[in-house]
Amino acid sequence: MVNRSPFSLYFHIPFCSRKCDYCHFYVIPDRESDKQLLLTGFKREWLNWLPQLEGRQLVSVYFGGGTPSLFGPERIAEILGWIRAHHPAIEEVTLEANPERITAELMAAYREAGINRISIGLQTLDDALLHQLGRTHASQQGIDAVLATAQGGISNITVDLMYDIPTQTLASWERTLERLRTLPITHLSLYNLTFEPQTLFFKKRAQLLPTVPDPETSLQMYLKAIEYLESLGLQQYEISAFAKPGFHSRHNVGYWTARPFLGFGPSAYSYWEGSRFRNICHLRRYSEALEAGDSPADFSEKLDEIPARRELLTVQLRLVKGVDLLEFESRHGPLDPETKSVLHDLQKQDFLEQDNSILRLTPRGRLFYDSVAAELI
Ligand code: SF4
Repeated sequence: MVNRSPFSLYFHIPFCSRKCDYCHFYVIPDRESDKQLLLTGFKREWLNWLPQLEGRQLVSVYFGGGTPSLFGPERIAEILGWIRAHHPAIEEVTLEANPERITAELMAAYREAGINRISIGLQTLDDALLHQLGRTHASQQGIDAVLATAQGGISNITVDLMYDIPTQTLASWERTLERLRTLPITHLSLYNLTFEPQTLFFKKRAQLLPTVPDPETSLQMYLKAIEYLESLGLQQYEISAFAKPGFHSRHNVGYWTARPFLGFGPSAYSYWEGSRFRNICHLRRYSEALEAGDSPADFSEKLDEIPARRELLTVQLRLVKGVDLLEFESRHGPLDPETKSVLHDLQKQDFLEQDNSILRLTPRGRLFYDSVAAELI
């Protein structure tokens, strides 16, 4: 019987013009010679998986990085050509872009190539903070990039914003939020900065950590963001995601609801048939493995049933609409008594609420999701 279940694809394009001081992703310099190597790797991975994908519904394709907008519209068109030959109707095709080199012409070319959603890494609209993060763009370039994307004919635009940046104040955060008002965005993802090992920020953490907003200010930033974004018509639909009606991210909803996905390219993660695996974090070694006919993955794991189910539930609870437990159990299997008892305790502490079969975070649970997740996983 043909497997018609939905899935998604992710392509990791690791090129960046400079590595930001807080970045922990696999990123390499923007070199033309490496782009062909990556494209060849993508093609090999695609052809290797193709027999297993026939008949399935491809919901979304996401080009992430790195800075995928440096890859060029021709290469993106080529990849989408391979995919569309087998999956002509893809709902959402997103490309991440950084403000530096965005022009209306470039965005029009990406639209022609088949991109229908652009994700722009604004991070903040405060120039001093952008400099501190090691970003290469200024705030006005960020604004111009959003406007140029719309001029280029792509109307589904999401931006990333970051809080908890060293020296960031509530007043600076409010100014950034206020400057969003004039921008034609349909979606926004909110992140709080974390100090990840192997970043410049991590090395300088003794000096930087005392300047990070304190927990009370951080909470105020999050609450202000919800208030501002809702006043712009961007409704919170997940802990860190906001969208105009109908513009939630199809791709990210897949991550929160355990839709299988394949990640291609060095360092890309996949989640497929209950297993998680990750490709080698090195472009040449990744390419050599594929050329030799070997798997490019250097890590894989399959969680035991009960912990896997708890993890899926915890991730799905990030959605504001919550989880339909009847549907969840029929798809993933019954929750064990210990998990049920933790859920009961979390309800008593006003972190969770249940309405018939729908289990969801309370407003307090959304504010302290990390504590809820720590109890469950
Ligand atoms: S632009 Fe993004 S991916 Fe590139 S170095 Fe900066 S944070 Fe990392």
